[in-house]
Amino acid sequence: MSKSDIEGKTALVTGASKGIGKAISLALADLGVKVAVNYNSSEAKAKEVAKQIGDSGGESLIVHADVSDAKAVTAMVHKVNEAWGQVDILVNNAGIISDGLLLRMSDESWDRVIGVNLNGTFYCARAVLRTMVRQRWGRIINIGSVVGLRGNIGQTNYSASKAALLGFSKSLAKEVATRNITVNIVTPGYISTETVADLTKEQKDRIMTWIPQGHFGETEDIANMVAYLASKKARYITGQVISVDGGMAI
Ligand code: NAP
Repeated sequence: MSKSDIEGKTALVTGASKGIGKAISLALADLGVKVAVNYNSSEAKAKEVAKQIGDSGGESLIVHADVSDAKAVTAMVHKVNEAWGQVDILVNNAGIISDGLLLRMSDESWDRVIGVNLNGTFYCARAVLRTMVRQRWGRIINIGSVVGLRGNIGQTNYSASKAALLGFSKSLAKEVATRNITVNIVTPGYISTETVADLTKEQKDRIMTWIPQGHFGETEDIANMVAYLASKKARYITGQVISVDGGMAI
């Protein structure tokens, strides 16, 4: 893929202040995409991402919003539209976990995970879709999880939120297919981020036995796939679930 396959487009990346979202933002900016860097609580980190993009000659815009808040999402997309006219590429990356066995899971824990991971994806997609339909071009890339495919003890809320993204992505892909808008879902396995670093050695050793390649992935592995799906080269790929997980979902 070359820069000309994507250069000049605009992107909104949710949860771009760290981890996978940060890597996606940097990868897109590197290819000449203007990136709106969304964050919820990590303002300083979002500023670092924007600075990194600027230092490499790219253009970015920092946009605050809790994606589980529909009004905040509408305001965020309005801000990007005012600055750049439209969002060409939406990456629904913001996601949280709140683990616990179902018997002890609180309503709050369930609602919060569904609110950010699933409702947030819905609010953001709905907010950008009108201009995408009007301009007859768009890319929506949702970040799922291998846990949404395989399930995992202690993660019924998270797994349900990520599995729901499969149905969401496939249905929306069908709705907008004739408008040159593609909708895909990338399902990472275990990727070296702060969340994974916080696991105990015992947990990491157990997870490693599930990964055929025998190691965790890097944030760039996800960013590279997202950048490809966002490019013109991926125009005939829609409604797909693409695992980037070292073989874990096999
Ligand atoms: P992370 O390092 O914890 O970063 C999460 C990002 O989401 C942060 O930028 C955070 O922003 C943002 N966020 C959280 N709640 C938000 C909200 N309500 N509104 C807007 N932004 C919000 O996570 P990660 O590991 O990079 O994961 C990124 C995505 O990949 C998630 O969807 C996750 O489920 C998925 N995933 C990760 C792995 C993995 O191994 N790491 C595996 C499978 C799937 P603030 O800090 O500013 O609040």
